[in-house]
Amino acid sequence: MKFQYFMPTRIFSGERCLAEHGAALKQLGTKALIVTGTHSAKANGSLDDAVKALAVNGQAYCVYDKVMSNPTIACAYEGASEAVSNGCDFVLAIGGGSPMDAGKAVALLAAQEKPVPPAEIFSASYARALPVAAVPTTAGTGSEVTQYAILTNDAAESKTSVATPLLFPRFAFLDAAYMRGLSQSVTVNTVVDALSHAVEGMLSVRASSVSDALAGESIALIASCIAAPGLSDLDDEARRKLLTASTLAGMVIANTGTTAVHALGYSLTYYKNIDHGRANGLLLARFLAFIERTKRERVAEILARMRLKTVDDFARLLDGLLGKREKLSAAEIEHYAEKAVKAANIANCVVRPEKDDLVEVLQGSLG
Ligand code: ZN
Repeated sequence: MKFQYFMPTRIFSGERCLAEHGAALKQLGTKALIVTGTHSAKANGSLDDAVKALAVNGQAYCVYDKVMSNPTIACAYEGASEAVSNGCDFVLAIGGGSPMDAGKAVALLAAQEKPVPPAEIFSASYARALPVAAVPTTAGTGSEVTQYAILTNDAAESKTSVATPLLFPRFAFLDAAYMRGLSQSVTVNTVVDALSHAVEGMLSVRASSVSDALAGESIALIASCIAAPGLSDLDDEARRKLLTASTLAGMVIANTGTTAVHALGYSLTYYKNIDHGRANGLLLARFLAFIERTKRERVAEILARMRLKTVDDFARLLDGLLGKREKLSAAEIEHYAEKAVKAANIANCVVRPEKDDLVEVLQGSLG
């Protein structure tokens, strides 16, 4: 069996891991740019813990805390100019997927000797990046262990990833205590994103026995937590499981890429402002049904990890989490399918969908 597997990120997992293992940050440089969102890292204690760890190490820092959800290219450039003008030599990205992706893009842009024009950010070839450490405060994106920085791409009217192995964080600190105050809707949306990563990883032509092992465990961990209606009243143990599951799923997509679900989901986020994770969740059951027609056994493996029997059971479980579905017009469905069929990640699908198949997935999910 031929395959490749690569994962260069050292993971520290457990309560107070930033305090216990913060000395590792000394290897990254002398002055950090902390990249984060406007408020959650301040509220959940992660920013304080990061600052304390840097102080213990005698490392200086600046804070760039203007990352919005679905970060823009302009945000990445603004952060990079903060890093350069303040002499920062590494990035500490704290938050959900948006701050981590923005932080990784900042680390890349800040390290270039010749400035990369914004129009070339997704196509340029990069030779260096500042080192990054990541502290996820949601359990969804897995960005703490991937080589992707996903930014809003207005020229393509979508979200597009800057992808280079230079973007793998050197360290990821997983402390589920930062997730205690997450709202139910953020919890649901992020869990559904992680589930989508693990499931799509198993439906990728790049899946291997290593990625399958990680994806299967991720799916099983998520399944053990989402039985409660709407994921309400999660205790610390469940939060720890979900954070582990999302990191495992990140390790999966770092190696398999995503599939048609993400390709379609980006349009739902760009045009309809539907949260990224929710967008994937809305599409996942129908995509599974499409794959099942050709690859019944593969889908059965996924369902077995969830302790479910049929794709209908899977759909009902997700319906319980996602609630009332948004609706798309026939013209929107046509447009999004047209865009997605040309996306790079379509080639990852274990059964390659035609445009009509994507129309059917959208119609069944949001028609
Ligand atoms: Zn995702």
